[in-house]
Amino acid sequence: MRRTKKILLFTLLSIFVGSQSHAFKISGNKWAIGEIEYFVDMDGTAASGITWNTAFIAAMNEWNAETPFNFILREENRNPCANDGLNSVDFSDSFCGSEFGSSTLAVTVLSYKSAILGAPTIREADIIIDQNKDFNVYDGRLVQFGIQGLDFRRVALHELGHVLGLDHETSNAAIMAPNIGNLDRLQADDIAGAELLYGGAINCAVAELAFGSITNALEDTDCRVSELLPGSSDSSPIDLYSFALTSPATISLGMTSSTLDSVLLIADENLQVVAFDDKSSNECDSSLTQFLQPGSYFLLANTFDSPVKDECDISGDYKINAALSSVGLNPLGSSTSLTGAAVNAGFSAGITSNNGVSFTNQFPPSASLDITAQIDIDPQHFGQAGFLVIAAVIDEQILFLNEAGQFIDSAANPGVITRAVNKTLTATEELTVVENLIPASLGISEMQVSFFFGYGLISSPGQLYYHQTPLKLIIAP
Ligand SMILES: [Zn+2]
Repeated sequence: MRRTKKILLFTLLSIFVGSQSHAFKISGNKWAIGEIEYFVDMDGTAASGITWNTAFIAAMNEWNAETPFNFILREENRNPCANDGLNSVDFSDSFCGSEFGSSTLAVTVLSYKSAILGAPTIREADIIIDQNKDFNVYDGRLVQFGIQGLDFRRVALHELGHVLGLDHETSNAAIMAPNIGNLDRLQADDIAGAELLYGGAINCAVAELAFGSITNALEDTDCRVSELLPGSSDSSPIDLYSFALTSPATISLGMTSSTLDSVLLIADENLQVVAFDDKSSNECDSSLTQFLQPGSYFLLANTFDSPVKDECDISGDYKINAALSSVGLNPLGSSTSLTGAAVNAGFSAGITSNNGVSFTNQFPPSASLDITAQIDIDPQHFGQAGFLVIAAVIDEQILFLNEAGQFIDSAANPGVITRAVNKTLTATEELTVVENLIPASLGISEMQVSFFFGYGLISSPGQLYYHQTPLKLIIAP
């Protein structure tokens, strides 16, 4: 995170003529989501008989077909000079009151809004085309015997590239070249630029978040914000943890470190920050509590890109306590199998001390706990003879729940996966792990348990389908 947070709103002019220079270049800004509406309703037809609208819409469709970005066509006229939050294109004899340069064919105007993390995102992008230039619509060479004017379709392709956040490209063949030329379709370099911005690739390692406690470190070898969010100049290290919610939940996070100036953020699946600790307290530690709707999220553990406080550093070990309180069971990460074979199953679970009114992870020893899990069985497997497995991991010890309802140390039967139930599998299997368990009554005052749930088929007893992220139970006074 950069220390200065301010609202940025400025415009950038991108002109299709001029000179400059390298592989695809990004402006440093992008849309938060790779899909925008574009208002297109221009008057007129080229000498070739093709309307300007047809040529412009063909250019939009080419970006849609060749890249992850998507333009949604709105066939209505809007003034591209209006600061109305709408993206539009039109011809004009001036560039919003200023004269077009003699060699300028069109201008794309971008405005931005600040982002908590990374560069400002684009909020509006309008294209103004000089109506006094001689345009036509045709493929192939720019200057051809018998054809007058410049091909409007490739101008539209270029300006729409600026709309995406691409800058001029001078070393590779590209529609984003600063000067109009013989290229009339998107080139590999243009497509690669759009892929980088909107391909959805997370350019940093992502761990699945297990609610409970995490220990890790922010250090020189970690991913940087500038790698995660191309275009950002923020060089602070960042760790990413993914999690998903299937019911509304409140997530409470505490990040502590003996050295690190901790910053906690929660981002949505598009890496847009939905909550962050504003560090209003004068401590190195960070805490954040946020109510979240069902969806996919990232927990981001970050620091600053240059030291802010004398007493805190910008690298070092940290611990995060992540507690979840939800109104329903929550998913346990992606599904997997012992052999690595793909499986289309879903696993969720929850721990409640109030008969299912809410589910969370951390309880006092005196709480009376019910732990339940649900497995959505792979459609290929239901109706078959199978078995269910419940495992509890405490430190290095693995315990299996047996058919008699007792947890048995796996060390007693090495290599054996003890089954909780043998049964014909149905679409949804509900598992009751414990009911009315009071840790204090067993002499437990402090403990961390990681639960795993799985199932298998009698026909292949060596295979087990389970999940990546454990259900964590923390007992603490
Ligand atoms: Zn340009």
